[in-house]
Amino acid sequence: MSTIFDYIIIGAGTAGCLLANRLSADASRRVLLIDAGRKDDYHWIHIPVGYLYCIGNPRTDWLYNTESEEGLNGRALRYPRGKTLGGSSSINGMIYMRGQARDYDRWAQLSGDDTWTWANVLPYFKLHEDHYKGASAAHGARGVLPELMQSQTDPYVQVLRHRNAGGEWRVDKQRLHWDVLDAFAKAAQQAGIPATEDFNQGDNEGVGYFEVNQKRGWRWSTAKAFLRPTCYGRSNFEMWTSAHVVKLLFETQADGSQRCTGVQVWASHEMVTATATAEVILSAGSIGSPQILQLSGIGPAKLLQQHGIEVLHDAPGVGANLQDHLQIRAVFKVTGVKTLNTQANSLWGKAMIGLEYALKRSGPMSMAPSQLGAFTRSDAAQPYPNIEYHVQPLSLEAFGEPLHSFNAFTASVCNLQPSSRGTVRIKSNKFEDAPAIAPHYLSTEADRKVAADSLRLTRSIVAQPALARYQPQEWKPGIQYQTDQELAKLAGDIATTIFHPVGTTKMGAADDPLAVVDSRLRVRGPGGLIAGLRVVDAGVMPRITSGNTNSPTLMIAEKAAQWIVADAAESYWGQTPIWQNPKSTLRRLASHPLGEPKARRIWALTPKTLYGWLAVDQHDAHRHHRQGSN
Ligand SMILES: Cc1cc2nc3c(=O)[nH]c(=O)nc-3n(C[C@H](O)[C@H](O)[C@H](O)COP(=O)(O)OP(=O)(O)OC[C@H]3O[C@@H](n4cnc5c(N)ncnc54)[C@H](O)[C@@H]3O)c2cc1C
Repeated sequence: MSTIFDYIIIGAGTAGCLLANRLSADASRRVLLIDAGRKDDYHWIHIPVGYLYCIGNPRTDWLYNTESEEGLNGRALRYPRGKTLGGSSSINGMIYMRGQARDYDRWAQLSGDDTWTWANVLPYFKLHEDHYKGASAAHGARGVLPELMQSQTDPYVQVLRHRNAGGEWRVDKQRLHWDVLDAFAKAAQQAGIPATEDFNQGDNEGVGYFEVNQKRGWRWSTAKAFLRPTCYGRSNFEMWTSAHVVKLLFETQADGSQRCTGVQVWASHEMVTATATAEVILSAGSIGSPQILQLSGIGPAKLLQQHGIEVLHDAPGVGANLQDHLQIRAVFKVTGVKTLNTQANSLWGKAMIGLEYALKRSGPMSMAPSQLGAFTRSDAAQPYPNIEYHVQPLSLEAFGEPLHSFNAFTASVCNLQPSSRGTVRIKSNKFEDAPAIAPHYLSTEADRKVAADSLRLTRSIVAQPALARYQPQEWKPGIQYQTDQELAKLAGDIATTIFHPVGTTKMGAADDPLAVVDSRLRVRGPGGLIAGLRVVDAGVMPRITSGNTNSPTLMIAEKAAQWIVADAAESYWGQTPIWQNPKSTLRRLASHPLGEPKARRIWALTPKTLYGWLAVDQHDAHRHHRQGSN
């Protein structure tokens, strides 16, 4: 087995799968994708309601916990992160959300690079989007050539040609509705929140059903969208699963600067070294990436020294700036209307749910955890929508607990732009030890105020006439609590993560001491950028987006892929010398972006690729001889 590649991508999650697809499209580039998780051949990954069985399951979840949090009255939270192909996109809530235009304009200001303005990121959302309503100014769709692909000369366009009709990332309408949610939507309108059909035009204010990443009632993860079958059929693509990246490897170059040369991986009970001749791309997510950087000597010097790790670069921003959305889960008992609580609590109800999914791929089994959403202001003085509702026709005591036996709905609300900042810090120098995750929720007065205000707003929505016939009664936190202090404290009791950690390897301008990567996502090191190393995942967001974070992460990966391809085209002749790998060099010649595409296709038609096309799964299994117990 070869351990020399052009690109090594660490983490087959949301970002990693897209990168693997794009970078391996050039048959002359050898790409290795590594993930600590197993393949995504577990049935609950694919059935939307299966997130209930994937979260908290070692088969698919890293099973992290936060430290005990003062703002949560001493509670520690479970902190799920996907550990399988597709990463968190294989266990997440499937909500398709871009955030607000101003989020990206702010990124551009913070990083000093206009590449991140809303106008300049929108085309990258559309580039891989397959929206069920078809293409429009705001959306991309399969079969419609995105504007970015109209250039004849951009090497990235050459890379994207393999997609033919394009649009891998399916955005669907949900296949259900609930009377109680329809009533909540009307109540929200009566409380002054306008109805919206589309949360993804740059201004997400309004109330409506979320759009979801599903296809015909199945979860649509990034592994399905970008790896399968495209990458599996490519002879230049290799994937190691159940392979845990331990650390990055570096060498000092002639001018004294650092270059990342590869990775050390723990796979099948042995330590393996894989070498990258072009780039290592760290896409292990907001928890995994700072952990790997710290274990490799890039992080806060004091922390590294405390754990006996040699400091390559004192980077205080690695693992700092953790931001997350904290959802405050208010529960209301209702009468005279169906909710999932009672439907799923009877055998007959369960049977009907199963039957509906089997016959029509609809109903509660096709259900994303939250169906109805609303973006609004926690108080009238807020200049923009600063809170998001996720409304669910169900209730439970805590995540992972059984549903209540009475009918109820949950109106969960989160502060979209919290000012609290947390940390991710290694606890030892062992790669297998989980890091300490401390989000510091509700640690600022401003966040506690938004928490109290948003609970009051929830009450005022629920008190509107549209919900009156279901006689909603506040079960949590309890109507007896009214003051700001009481509400903020109770928010700490009933709140939990909505799973959006970002910012732990943030991008920023050169004068920002906490910026880990530059605006093109290259890692800063001693005396300049470290050659051959980028971070491409949710961790690079300097500020959390005002919405769910999966599709923004895909957009980031799409932009990064274009830069990686452009950099490679520039340093085209500086790759592996011909005498080291003549076959690869010849392939590279045949697939040069300016070369003849037909020649490339003929060259790529080796028996191995043919075999890959014909027998995707077996080919995949064959490739995984290193992956241990899959
Ligand atoms: C339960 C849950 C619900 C969510 N719901 C939504 C939603 O409805 N909508 C939305 O937009 N967002 C949602 N999110 C957030 C969204 O899924 C994430 O923001 C996004 O997936 C982050 O992508 P990423 O590429 O940064 O990381 P991930 O997708 O988490 O990928 C990281 C990958 O790296 C691998 N990895 C980590 N460390 C190592 C290592 N040392 N060696 C090898 N591999 C490693 C992991 O196994 C994983 O596959 C949810 C997340 C969760 C967990």
